[in-house]
Amino acid sequence: MPKYVYYFGSKRTDGSAEMKDLLGGKGANLAEMSRLGIPVPAGFTITTDCCNDYFAKGAVFPDGMKEQVERALKMVEDEMGMRFGDPANPLLVSCRSGARSSMPGMMETVLNIGLCPKTIPGLIKKTRNDRFVYDSYRRLITMYSDVVMEKAEGIDPEEGKGIRVQLESIMEEVKRSKGYKNDIELTVEDLKRLCNEYKKRIRKLLGRPFPEDPMKQLWGGIGAVFKSWNGKRAVAYRRIEGIPDDWGTATNVQAMVFGNMGFASATGVAFTRNPATGDNKFYGEWLPNAQGEDVVAGIRTPNPINEETKNPQNMHLESLEKAMPDIYRRLDSIQRKLERHYRDMQDIEFTIQEGRLFMLQTRTGKRTGTAALNMAMDMFKERLITEKMAVLRFKPEQMDELLHPLVDPAAEARVKEIAQGLPAGPGGASGQIVFTSDEAVEWARNGKKVILVREETNPEDVAGMRAAEGVLTARGGMTSHAALVARGWGKCCIVGAGMVHVDSVSGKMTVDEKNYKKGATITLNGTRGYVYEGQLDMIDATENPYFQKFMNLADKYRKLGVRANADTAEDARVARNFGAEGIGLFRTEHMFYGEKSEKPLFLLRQMILSGTVEERKNAINKLYRYVKQNIKVTLEAMNGLPVTLRLLDPPLHEFIPQDHGRQKALADSLGISVREVKKRSELLHEVNPMMGHRGVRLGITYPEVTEMQVRAIFEAAAELNKARKKALPEIMIPVTCETNELREQKVIVDRVYGEVLKKYKIRKINYLLGTMIEIPRACLLADRMAEVVEFFSFGTNDLTQMGFGFSRDDIGAFLGTYLEKKILKDDPFQTIDQEGIGQLIKMGVAKGRSTNKTLKVGICGEQGGDPNSVKFCHRVGMNYVSCSPYRVPIARLAAAHVAIEAAKGGKKTSG
Ligand code: ADP
Ligand code: MG
Ligand code: MG
Repeated sequence: MPKYVYYFGSKRTDGSAEMKDLLGGKGANLAEMSRLGIPVPAGFTITTDCCNDYFAKGAVFPDGMKEQVERALKMVEDEMGMRFGDPANPLLVSCRSGARSSMPGMMETVLNIGLCPKTIPGLIKKTRNDRFVYDSYRRLITMYSDVVMEKAEGIDPEEGKGIRVQLESIMEEVKRSKGYKNDIELTVEDLKRLCNEYKKRIRKLLGRPFPEDPMKQLWGGIGAVFKSWNGKRAVAYRRIEGIPDDWGTATNVQAMVFGNMGFASATGVAFTRNPATGDNKFYGEWLPNAQGEDVVAGIRTPNPINEETKNPQNMHLESLEKAMPDIYRRLDSIQRKLERHYRDMQDIEFTIQEGRLFMLQTRTGKRTGTAALNMAMDMFKERLITEKMAVLRFKPEQMDELLHPLVDPAAEARVKEIAQGLPAGPGGASGQIVFTSDEAVEWARNGKKVILVREETNPEDVAGMRAAEGVLTARGGMTSHAALVARGWGKCCIVGAGMVHVDSVSGKMTVDEKNYKKGATITLNGTRGYVYEGQLDMIDATENPYFQKFMNLADKYRKLGVRANADTAEDARVARNFGAEGIGLFRTEHMFYGEKSEKPLFLLRQMILSGTVEERKNAINKLYRYVKQNIKVTLEAMNGLPVTLRLLDPPLHEFIPQDHGRQKALADSLGISVREVKKRSELLHEVNPMMGHRGVRLGITYPEVTEMQVRAIFEAAAELNKARKKALPEIMIPVTCETNELREQKVIVDRVYGEVLKKYKIRKINYLLGTMIEIPRACLLADRMAEVVEFFSFGTNDLTQMGFGFSRDDIGAFLGTYLEKKILKDDPFQTIDQEGIGQLIKMGVAKGRSTNKTLKVGICGEQGGDPNSVKFCHRVGMNYVSCSPYRVPIARLAAAHVAIEAAKGGKKTSG
């Protein structure tokens, strides 16, 4: 017979904090507090295994459980000196849910179990407080009918028709008719009448009476808590958090203590430090004469816990420190003890019953990114935790929040949002709204701050998105174009704000029948997905002096190099500020997009549409100086750090103009007719351009294109060297799948290298030659590829595309369904598919190193800034990852985490 029931109390405690998997977080910590001698009402935990067995038997309690529960209940009775269901001296209990990791508010709890006509008189006599007894009774009836009789029975009423709402509205009605503001004004008579009306309503609505037998109540409560594991909210939460369905919840049955016995009684919640800022100050709220959830539910404005942490909302209310100084001192010493014991910030619940303090819960508190960082550094300074623990305390996933200006939470608290969408790009932004990309560019050029508002964005909006402070779309999800682009840049962005109606033609957006014209100011909180009217204040989280210090700590442990993907000198500088140790991907073609691209793009088009080698060489010669200049400024900005320069990659037809005006200009410059331009463009048309004439294939068919780029790279480096500046170019050949491609390109590289040395009369230019590994065949033949080159960079976007056979550009049609149906766990374009594509990468690294011991290996796909992917790259032995500049600190931290975790010999992930 399995042990299903674990006791906790002052005389004996079976469990401990280590047993979270079996007892749930709440149960394990109640046991731990009991062990520490902290006052906790006695009780017992029914295990998560029992919950799973219960479901396995089709919602039937497993054999042997009943006896164990009864035995434990007897022990609680003995310890508390009361009997459950006893008319003279009744014990009441709560049934509390609690899973392995905390799922706040997602599952159910029932308080005051055991109250019924049989026990009410005894409790009144004992407490001489009939108001308290009926207040507890009406709470029991409310919770029980909601949790046990409705939710656990799978009844799913329409919005606003549930039993709880109905009972609460009966109470509201009484309060209104009597002119009460507060529930504490309800008299005994009011409460008695309420209880009767509640019971009538329950029988009418649910067709069954409220059970008045204590044992029946208890078993109903236990079953309902188990069932709340499969409640709608809990299931939805598990999906988002990736919590497995088979964990199950424990049920904690615990002797009740009462915060609603009068004004010497109270209940509260607190944090051992401020969870929003990390301030090392005991922080919390309490309510006199209240029970359980009252504080969180916001039925009254709760009082501040101490004088130090009062805020404008609760300034006028009495602190616990003032109202009950002795109790406050006890509580303060307990919270210190708990924090020292757990070595982390705790989130605690307590109740005061007629001057006696009881602890009801402790758990590691959730916190904002800023608070996580500050607490980690403070606790390290206080020697509460080690340096490694401090590094691990701040999660790479939390860092996003710190790297962007944030809407000041204080400003946000003062106003109500006008709309809500998906938090696609972090941080905050304020600006005037515009509705087209061109407007955004133009207004920004005139020094205005703008928010680009679109129905949805497409690649043509990129310039406007770049120019805008923030982006808001009415449609689209977390992987929509706008979301992807914004995240890459670390730009504030909200997508899918369905209530926003965009009318870009007449230049206005409408929300809730209110119009916002072009030029109106709004503020976005991209971290939370909220849209506000007007301009809200911002704060800058990286001004935090701890940030640099923390990153230095993390870098001490990191083994993996971190570079950035950057195409301009400006991006390169941003990247270096964030700690990038080089550029892992510089895309040559970038100079043909966006600002100041007119001239080089024109020359490129000339080159593409050339009819003869002569014409092409002519265009190339003119283009040359732009290419060289671009490369030179980026090499210079990186000041000797490696810069991986990728040769021209996209299919050429992408650059061909489709409008008549531009075609005409091109025709004139080439001395041919528009018709001829059209004809030549059509020849470039491809059915499947992603797998068409691109990458190294261009270099094979047009060697002069490779030659021009290689020359630009070497001459840029030579000129910098001559000016006594450092430069370290790494030439990267894209889309290769065959070593002969590399050999053929290498001949050009070697020849041009010699020519440049001669021209500049120098002996040497430091450089490396490498290739992108982005076609599965290249992984299979990596040993041969590595014989020709000095480095590999895994292009995991294309590798994922070709490995899965998923077109990156068409994935929108099915990826959502795939994720929803759990066919795939994650979007493989955001986080490396370690099971599948990961094998190709592992093989590529191993095979490559087998023939080339000094081969350098990195990654330059989107996933390079994703914490889990970074950890994977560390484990397969890469030398570096490369990601967008704003993700560099995230990658640095993820790399530090994996190094520390690996040294510990793998880390368990539950908790
Ligand atoms: P949640 O996980 O949603 O916080 P809990 O099980 O912690 O749910 O219970 C809800 C509220 O009831 C909490 O405020 C808790 O402190 C209070 N509570 C639970 N059990 C007892 C008890 N035995 N005596 C007094 N208050 C209790
Ligand atoms: Mg709780
Ligand atoms: Mg590619």
